[in-house]
Amino acid sequence: MEASAGLKPKRSDFTLAALSQLSSSPVSSSSAPVVARFCADRGVAELRFCQDSNFIDGFDFNLGTSRLFKLGPVQWLCISESSDNNKEKSYSRGVTIHFRTEEESRDFHSAFEQWQNVDVTQGTDLPNGTISDVRSKFDNKIESSSAKMYFHYYGQLLHQQNMLQDYVRTGTYYAAVIENRADFTGRVVVDVGAGSGILSLFAAQAGAKHVYAVEASEMAEYARKLIAGNPSLGQRITVIKGKVEEVELPEKADILISEPMGTLLVNERMLESYIIARDRFLVPKGKMFPSIGRIHMAPFSDEYLFVEIANKALFWQQQNYYGVDLTPLYGSAFQGYFSQPVVDAFDPRLLVSPPMCHVIDFNEVKEEDLYEIDIPLKFIASVGTRVHGLACWFDVLFNGSSVQRWLTTAPGAPTTHWYQIRCVLSQPIYVMAGQEITGRLHMIAHNAQSYTIYLTLSAKMWGPGAEQGGILQTSSCKLDLKEPYYRMSQPQPYTMAQDQQPHQLLQAQDIQIHAEDLEEPELLQQQPLENSGAQLQ
Ligand code: SAH
Repeated sequence: MEASAGLKPKRSDFTLAALSQLSSSPVSSSSAPVVARFCADRGVAELRFCQDSNFIDGFDFNLGTSRLFKLGPVQWLCISESSDNNKEKSYSRGVTIHFRTEEESRDFHSAFEQWQNVDVTQGTDLPNGTISDVRSKFDNKIESSSAKMYFHYYGQLLHQQNMLQDYVRTGTYYAAVIENRADFTGRVVVDVGAGSGILSLFAAQAGAKHVYAVEASEMAEYARKLIAGNPSLGQRITVIKGKVEEVELPEKADILISEPMGTLLVNERMLESYIIARDRFLVPKGKMFPSIGRIHMAPFSDEYLFVEIANKALFWQQQNYYGVDLTPLYGSAFQGYFSQPVVDAFDPRLLVSPPMCHVIDFNEVKEEDLYEIDIPLKFIASVGTRVHGLACWFDVLFNGSSVQRWLTTAPGAPTTHWYQIRCVLSQPIYVMAGQEITGRLHMIAHNAQSYTIYLTLSAKMWGPGAEQGGILQTSSCKLDLKEPYYRMSQPQPYTMAQDQQPHQLLQAQDIQIHAEDLEEPELLQQQPLENSGAQLQ
C-alpha cells in the first residue's frame, strides 16, 4: 500500500552509535553523534547522514535503489544499487550503521521500509488533480530511458490507431462495457492508461457519472481533443495527464477500466500500474474491467521454426568473410537468436499437449507478486514428436454483472495485435504419446519494463536405462521478453479473422483446446500471405 499525501513526516532522524564505510574505519572522530536522516528534500526519498547539523558528503542513499541487510542486533548494512547496460543489478556503495540499542535498530529498520514505499509527499495542485514532486514507485523501479521511450511510443497517434484497429481487442472492450451498463451507470470510473481516451468514451456511453482518464504520455493532449469533440460524452470525462502512480484524484472510483496487457500478458509491466491504481483509487469491493488474466502455456513442435532460428546464426560460421574468420562469434550468435521469444500467430495443431494456465486475479494480486512469476509446468504429450519449446498466450475476463466476456489471444481464435508468443529451446526434447513433460517457467521483472524468462522443459528418455525409470532429458533457455522476434512475414494461417467485421469479432470467446482436437503436429504448408500491416504494441 502506498503512503498517502500528508501522512508522512517530512523527515525522521535516528542517532547512531557509529557509521562506517565498507571496510574502513568509523566516519569521524568528532565527538558529535552521527544522525541517520530519512528525508525527501531533493525530490527523492533518501537516507542521508549528518553530523553537527551538516550532511556528510558521499553518504546519501536513494531509498528506491538501496537495500538494507541485518548484520546483527544493532548493526545494519545499507548498500546502493546501480544498473549496468545489461540490465543486471550491481551494488557499488555501502555503509554499516551501528545503533545504541536494539529498539532504535528495529525502529530504524521499519522507518527504512516505510520510507522506501513513500511515493507522494507534497504535491502541486493542478486544475485536474495533484501530481507528486517526489520520485514515485514507477520511477523507482523503471529505468528512466526505458520509460522515456515507452511514453514516447504511446504518445504517437499511429500506435494508438494500431490498437484501435485491433477490432478483436477494441470490439470486445466495447461489448463488455455496453452489455454491462449496470456496472457503469451513475458510477465514477477511472481509465488507467487512457491513451486516446477510447475506453473513457465507452464508459461515458454506458452512463458513467464521471470518468477520470489518466494518461502519462503526450497522448493525453490528443485524448482531450477527442473528448472535447464528443461533447455529450466529454462533459463527464476529465483527462489527467500523469502516471497513475503519481496523480491524485478528487474522488474514489467505483470501477476501473484499463487495457494494461502486453505480450504474454505481463510485458511492459503495466499490470503493476493497474494494481497500484486499484490500491490508490478504487473503493473497497469496486469492480475492475478486466478482473482476471490467465497465461496459457503448452509445449509445441515446429521443426520449420526451429531450423529457421538455428540457421540465422549460420552466417557466423564463415571462416573467410573478407579474409576474417567469423566462427569465434558463432556460439554467441546462436545463443542470441534463441534468447528471443518468437511473436506470431501459429496453428494450434502444433501444440503437443492440452494447455495449462496460470491465473492472475487483478482484484487480489499484490503489485510485488508480479516482480517474479514462477510457474511449475506439467503436461501429457498427446503425440510422439520433438518438442521445440513452450507456446504461450493469454486471455482476460470482463466479469460484468450482466454478461461475462473473455478477450482471448489464443491460437486458432481471431488474431489480435498481441499474436502469440513462443519460447524456443536450442535443444529440442523427444517425447512419446502419453509421456509426461515437466518444467518451469520463471519470469523475473527487470527495470526496462519487461521480464527475463527462464524456461526449463524435461521428459524422460526411454531406451537404454529405461528399466531404471529412464534418463531425464532437460532443456533450458533464457530469453528477454523485451527483445522479441516478430515473425509476421511468415505464413499466417489465421489472418482471415482480421477481415471479419467488428460485430462478428465480438463473439471472440475463450477457446479451450482439448486433447481430442489435437492431431499429429505438421508443418504449415501455406504460401506466405500478405502481412496484415498490423504492428505490435
Ligand atoms: N486505453 C487505451 C490505451 C491502451 S495502451 C486503449 O485501450 O486504446 C496503454 C496506455 O497506458 C498507453 O497510452 C500508455 O501511455 C499508458 N500508460 C502506461 N503506463 C501508465 C502509467 N503508469 N500511468 C499512466 N498511463 C500509463
